Amino acid sequence: MSRKVYLDNAATTYVSSEVLNEMMPCFNAIYGNANSIHGFGRDAAAIVDRARDRIAAAINAKSANEIYFTSGGTEADNWAIKGLAHANANKGKHIITSAIEHHAVLDACAALEKEGFTVTYLPVDSTGVVSITELLRAIRKDTILISIMAVNNEVGTIQNIKTIAKTAHENGILFHTDAVQALGALRLDVQDMEIDALSISAHKIYGPKGVGALYVKNGVRIENLFDGGSQERGKRGGTLNVPGIAGFGKAAEIAVRDLVINQQKLRSIREYFLSKLRENVEYIHINGHPHQKIQGTVSVSFEMIEGESLLMLLDLDGVAVSTASACTSNSLLPSHVLKAMGIEDELAQGTIRFSFGKNTSKADIDYALEVLTNAVKKLRAISPITKAGRR
Ligand SMILES: *Cc1c(COP(=O)(O)O)cnc(C)c1O
Repeated sequence: MSRKVYLDNAATTYVSSEVLNEMMPCFNAIYGNANSIHGFGRDAAAIVDRARDRIAAAINAKSANEIYFTSGGTEADNWAIKGLAHANANKGKHIITSAIEHHAVLDACAALEKEGFTVTYLPVDSTGVVSITELLRAIRKDTILISIMAVNNEVGTIQNIKTIAKTAHENGILFHTDAVQALGALRLDVQDMEIDALSISAHKIYGPKGVGALYVKNGVRIENLFDGGSQERGKRGGTLNVPGIAGFGKAAEIAVRDLVINQQKLRSIREYFLSKLRENVEYIHINGHPHQKIQGTVSVSFEMIEGESLLMLLDLDGVAVSTASACTSNSLLPSHVLKAMGIEDELAQGTIRFSFGKNTSKADIDYALEVLTNAVKKLRAISPITKAGRR
């Protein structure tokens, strides 16, 4: 069968036609360097300004000059963690994050540990939520930064960002959040949520790959990322990716404009998927929080199944899903997120992430479930593990 169904929207999304239309003129008609003084440059700069305004509006930043364009979420996370740590190291060298962060945050923290910083990795409960009690217990006199993701990319659990940020500030600590999976899935308001720094990325919200942004609240000290030019107020030198930035601006505007309608659509797709899944497949576990979650991501553990094999069987029939997150799918280690949630290795290895998009239809779900049901049957028939125990 030639049908193709893409259920890996948490890894990346297609570029929507509205976004593509916004980008196209920036490749040839408006090709100036946004830093040039002449008319060609000013035209490109006007496009960048508009995109910056749109991104600021999407997260309710006070001012557009709090938005710094980057090459994506990974760069924004690295810059936030290392840049904030370095610029504030005179106050202390302790950082708090969680055990379920994206590797962009975890590995940036590990790099800081090599430099002499100390990092506390907060545990999560079985639904993937960071406990405020644990957070309070971890805070020290020399803690300078707390970084907790807004939405987890593997299981979709939403953290209590506003409470965590408030706790950070009551203790004179900066707060950063990786909001890559949150943008477009829930309302973000950096002022109301008291966020000092926030990372976002275009390609998770129907924008282009290779562009993202770091919001840094005015007055918060952060080290420059790249020396070499006056771009991004001297903090990140380098000629701006004008088409990418234009597309990101449009994608962010649309994400907020269509937030509620997308949430409703994804909720109905998700419920349809789960009801049909439960009807057709036994011995499954849905991971993450029952309500405090985004609508588009469902993590399912299949007993007596090896996740990679299931993924490959689905792929043979044109259904795209992922095990854990795209970034770790080449590693054979069980997901650090599922591990932190207390899911045993064998079950974690049998876990698949289904992430729906705004173009996912019920017909897509019907087809995916038909393929999935058959694949699960096939694998369980040859599994060395059975419900009664090992064969
Ligand atoms: C995708 C993702 C990133 C990385 O963003 P890129 O733009 O792909 O570098 C960071 N954090 C989370 C939670 C993500 O889902």
